[in-house]
Formats: sequence, structure tokens, C-alpha cells
Amino acid sequence: MNGGFVMKKGLFKYRVTVFALLIFLFEGSYSFAQKKDVFIPKSSRQVIHGRVTDENGKPLIAQIQIWHYPLTPVVFSYGESDIKGRTDNLISMSYTTDEGYFSVKVPPDTISFLVSKGPEWSLVDRQFIIKEKEFNGIEVNVTLKKLYDFEKLGWYAGDVHHHSIFSDGYQTPSEVARAMKGVGLSWGILSDHNSDEGINEWTANETKDFIPIHGCEITTEPSDISNENGYGHMNQSFIENINVKDPEEPNIWARARLDGHEDVQVMIDLTHRQNGLIAINHPYSAWDWSGRYKSWGKVKNFDAIEIWNGEPPHCITMNEWDTNHVNINTWAVHSWFAYLNEGNKISGIAGSDCHDIYGVNAYPKGQFYWTTTTGNPRTYAHLEEFSPEAIQKSVRNGNLFVTSTFGPLLLVTVNGKIPGEVVKVAKDGKMNIKVDILANRKLLKTENGVRLIFNGELIKRLATDSTLTFSRNISFAAEKDGWIVVEAFGQWPMYAITNAVYIDYPPYDDIFSKTWKDPAECGRWNEFLNHPEKYVPDGPTSFKDMKDSSGNAK
Ligand SMILES: [Zn+2]
Ligand SMILES: [Zn+2]
Repeated sequence: MNGGFVMKKGLFKYRVTVFALLIFLFEGSYSFAQKKDVFIPKSSRQVIHGRVTDENGKPLIAQIQIWHYPLTPVVFSYGESDIKGRTDNLISMSYTTDEGYFSVKVPPDTISFLVSKGPEWSLVDRQFIIKEKEFNGIEVNVTLKKLYDFEKLGWYAGDVHHHSIFSDGYQTPSEVARAMKGVGLSWGILSDHNSDEGINEWTANETKDFIPIHGCEITTEPSDISNENGYGHMNQSFIENINVKDPEEPNIWARARLDGHEDVQVMIDLTHRQNGLIAINHPYSAWDWSGRYKSWGKVKNFDAIEIWNGEPPHCITMNEWDTNHVNINTWAVHSWFAYLNEGNKISGIAGSDCHDIYGVNAYPKGQFYWTTTTGNPRTYAHLEEFSPEAIQKSVRNGNLFVTSTFGPLLLVTVNGKIPGEVVKVAKDGKMNIKVDILANRKLLKTENGVRLIFNGELIKRLATDSTLTFSRNISFAAEKDGWIVVEAFGQWPMYAITNAVYIDYPPYDDIFSKTWKDPAECGRWNEFLNHPEKYVPDGPTSFKDMKDSSGNAK
């Protein structure tokens, strides 16, 4: 796991006036060199530049982040003029070129320099003290190691929810594709609000190792007819063309007026008519805007629920910027459980909802956590082959697990079957559940690091340690039909959850309800603060573990 640390001594012939501190153990490696002593004016920025390669010297597209270090609590405020203290610890987020090169400006300060490429690659996380006035250019060359090759196992990471300048995003579709590659994704869905104008540019970014997929976020606005404040957001994906209420007049600024739940059903049906998939996005986002879904129990046949939208994972949490003051993702997970318990086959997916690949317009954010940046969270799909059709099939079937950009990677089989598949158990109901966790940051030392859930009930907790991997075989006997989902927690905000492995207990072939079935209580979810019942208790990590922002939680 340890790479070598190479210091280019030859480049130290000039007077060394800036020094770098190496604080943490690291799994990747890097070398640094400093150039000649050049006077630069106070308040000027230094430049850190270099190249990122893999162990064989092959250049990598990777993500470079520079943070003020240590992280300090930030003040989060919309438009207040008397802000005291730092409002943001991020100095910059960028991506290397195709040839692996980067060059970023840094202010005189102690900084944290983080190079990453998703959970399958090692991380380089280093601190430097940058002094004023003294020196021009720090060369840092980085080697990232491929710790786990998930594509070899058939698992490909993607982001199901991303915006571009063709709605309210800040970058072009090509820049979005480059960011997705930089964070280690193999596929992505561009989902601009009520628009697919960027589709030609988007699909032109297809390469042998990246598949761009056609999507659109049907985005409603509060309607005069509905006093329920709009009908929420739905992602349609794997489509030929977008469906909006009025195709002659799509409004890319998040404003499609639906006149009732029947219009929501029309959107679902039109998407299916062109063989696309439809997902309910961030169903519990702030109640006081139209992003909250309010057609529970009124429509049927959606394919997926976005159980993790680029915000804190399902855990103990309280959003400081969301007027709900609840974890929208936790409620989404529990809605999904409720639908699974009715015998529906629904996928749980994770999308970043990123609007800015450089992170400037993403809040709140911390070094290992910020909301809505490319690939965080992400959806891993198990594919028969690397093709758009195979990705669609896998998303539809729920051959998926979802995780953060910092992992952990979570492999689960039940009697050899992966999520989305059906296991026919014998009369004794016995099954073997195999859980493997692989990470590039240490897991958590806790009694509660892995949780097995059967039909929405917690059936087993497993202790994890501060190691990079975890592997266990667990025996369980079911006495009825159902589904199994496994969760894994790591250091905040590492979290992963599988899709359901469906358990068919004798007699066989009766585990899914023949027709769509809504949970009895779901009509109430359309009202503010009437959320799904909690099926499982909170996990071991908390939004308050976030280093630079928790001080502001009220
Ligand atoms: Zn949305
Ligand atoms: Zn969105």
C-alpha cells in the first residue's frame, strides 16, 4: 500500500526558504521540488504544479483540491454583509489535463493538497506551508495507485444526476465529462432542467472508457392549481428526446408547470413509451420550494428513487442550509424501503446533482465532504458488457450499490447472487451473505460499521476496525419472502448501501406484487414533516462529524 517518497535533491541547490510539512501516512506517493528564490509581492499566490500518473507512469485525469488547513468552521450565510470569519475553506478544485498536468495557484497559508480519482484509487493528501514573498513554483509529482479494479469485477461507476450550462449549471457538457473522468467514473447522465440542448456536445464525449447517457430533469414549479407547491423533480434517462409538459415551450430554468398528479403520471408514461427510465429525485428536499416530490400514492410505475442526492449520506444529520432540518437522504432511503416492502421492484440510485465541477458554488463543503460535486455520491452498476444498453438494464434491475466519492466500495452477494437478483432459498430459509468492503481511507472502529437489513428491519450489525478492508460471511435464515440490503459506514462521510437482493422463500415466484403497490401511509409523505416511518435507527456517523461546518448547525 505504501508508495515511495522521492525527493529530487538536485533541485535543492537553491536556497530553501519555503518548506513543506508532511503530516500523514499516505498510500499514494509524490515527489516535490522547489525552484529558485524569486521575490513575489505580498498577497501574490504561489503556484503548485506537476503531473499525476499511475504506477506505470501513465498520465491520469485526476481531481486536485487545495484547502486551507486546518479546516476552520465556516460561516454559512446567504447574502449577509456582516459575515465574520471564513465562509469557505476551499481554495480551488480542478482537474489534470489528458497528459496528467496541473498548475494551481495557492495563497500564503498552510494548505492541504488532495489528489484523488474516486474510491478505487489511492489518495494523496499532503499539507504544505506556503510563505509569502519567497519563492516561485513548487513542483509536486504524484503517483496514484489503482488499489481495486472494479471494472474487472464488472462494476462501473456513474453519476446519474448532473447539470451543465444548458440549464443552471456552470460548465459545458464537455467540461462535465472531463470532471466525471477525473473522479473515476465510467458513465454519466446529463440531466439539465427541462432541457437536453446539450445532448450533442454531451454524447460527443463518448470514449472507449466513458459512456455519456441522455437524460433530463423534469422540474416543476409551484402551480396555481396545486397548493402543494409543485410536483417535484424527476429524472428521465436513457431517452431519445425529452418529455416536458409543453415541448414547444420548455423552460430550462426549472419551471415546468404541471396541473396535477395526472401530469406527473403522463411524464412517467411518456418516458416509458420511449423505453426510458424515470427516477424520483431528492424527494424530501426543502419543503418550501418545488423540488420536494408530492405525488406519493398518486402515481405509479416509477423505476427508481434517488436515495442519495449530493448531500449528507443517510446518517444522523441535520442540514444547516435546508429549512427541513432533516436529512433528506435518510427519508428517501426509508421511502424506498417502504416501497420494497410492498413487493415493488424499485432501484435505489445516487447522483451528485452537481452544478459546478469546480466546487465554488457547492455548499456546504469540507475537505472530505461537500455537497453536490461530480461523482459524489455515485452509483456503481454491474454490467454484462460496457454499453449503454447494459447500463440501462443494470439500473432498471437494481444491480447496483451506491457510495460516496471516498467510498467505501461495497460488494455483497447472497448465495452468490448480487443486488437486483432473486435468491430462491430452501424451506429452511438458510442463506450465506458475503460482505466485502474495500476503501482508500480507513474504515471506522465501531460496533456498527456494517448493517444488514431484511424487509426494512435491522437483522445484524457487524463491527469494523480502522482498516482499509473488511470481509465476512454471515449466515441468516429467512422465514418469508423479502429483500436484503447492506449498509457500510466509514469515517465521515464514507457510506455505501447496496440495492436489494430479493429473497424468494417457498412457494416460489411470488415475491413481487403483480401490480404497483403504494405503502398505505405514503399519502401523508406529501405533507411537510410527514415523513416515512424510520425503519432502522441512525448509523454511527453524523453530520456533526463534518470538520468545518458543524459549528454552524443550529
Ligand atoms: Zn432537482
Ligand atoms: Zn438536479
